Amino acid sequence: MIAPVRATRAPDAAPVRVSFEFFPPKTEEMEKTLWASIHRLAPLHPEFVSVTYGAGGSTRERTHATVARIAQETDLHPAAHLTCVGASRAEVDEVVKAYGAAGIRHIVALRGDPMAGPGTPYVPHPEGYAHACDLVAGIRALGDFEISVSAYPEKHPESASLDEDIGYLKEKVAAGASRAMTQFFFENDVYFRYLDKVRAKGIDIPIVPGILPVTNFKQAASFATRTGASVPAWLLKRFEGLDNDPETRKLIAAAVAAEQVMDLVDRGVTEIHFYTLNRADLVYAICHLLGLRPTAGEAAQAVAV
Ligand code: FAD
Repeated sequence: MIAPVRATRAPDAAPVRVSFEFFPPKTEEMEKTLWASIHRLAPLHPEFVSVTYGAGGSTRERTHATVARIAQETDLHPAAHLTCVGASRAEVDEVVKAYGAAGIRHIVALRGDPMAGPGTPYVPHPEGYAHACDLVAGIRALGDFEISVSAYPEKHPESASLDEDIGYLKEKVAAGASRAMTQFFFENDVYFRYLDKVRAKGIDIPIVPGILPVTNFKQAASFATRTGASVPAWLLKRFEGLDNDPETRKLIAAAVAAEQVMDLVDRGVTEIHFYTLNRADLVYAICHLLGLRPTAGEAAQAVAV
């Protein structure tokens, strides 16, 4: 018999806290999907929801508009991603000030990928912030923002070693970051080994695991190649032969993600960041397994809609 997936935490353990990442929509259709997902996930009371910033600042206005709408129309706490790519310090600072003026107090500060795409050399803007740690310091100087940053359990592709990479994380913390969300990973041991190394270097901020529920395996494998995340052979095997069978892929995806998340929780993780890809169904189901529920009133309202 297959053992049921279940958390073995003490019944009185604090509930798992979650956050959801979205990307700004390009079309009206995508906007509808995003908002349907936000409304579906909102009653799970995430710690925050974040909105990404397109490569080279390409979504500057759309990111701002999405974050501002979340702040105005929901009770959620939005966080705006921001990168240093292709912009001077003054331009980036203007974006930060605009968020401050709109009441947005949480920024996810990133360097961003090279203009020509991941894998090409990164050339900072001549008057820009060179690295994420410089951006963190810049934001810190502009006001009392909560600042989250990235972390890479399998190291960032541009870092020579994991130790060097953790050194850069330490610089971001020294500059004022108070939380890191990891790049997605599929082997939980990779995360826990990384966490041990990070703690051994004296970094004590939350290192929140970033979970990518995989429904489109080919797309996820291509993301993984670009980001330096490894795709284990067992995962490949689970999706084998399902290229033309999206329904079964979805069921497998739910099982894989549930297994990963419940194992993290069993091993002591209390905060999880979901890369939603603007889709709510899988993430909602996993959160349900984690024990997150809408209140009775919210559930009744959802049924009425
Ligand atoms: P950094 O932390 O600055 O590090 C990147 C590399 O720069 C390091 O590997 C190292 O080689 C070098 N480096 C860093 N600091 C120093 C230093 N002090 N001295 C010398 N070299 C240094 N991208 C987007 O475009 N938009 C997003 O919204 C976005 N959101 C993300 C959210 C999360 C949770 C994660 C994990 C990634 C996200 N990314 C996003 C991707 C990210 O922008 C890329 O991975 C990018 O290549 C690196 O950005 P970073 O902030 O991690 O860089």
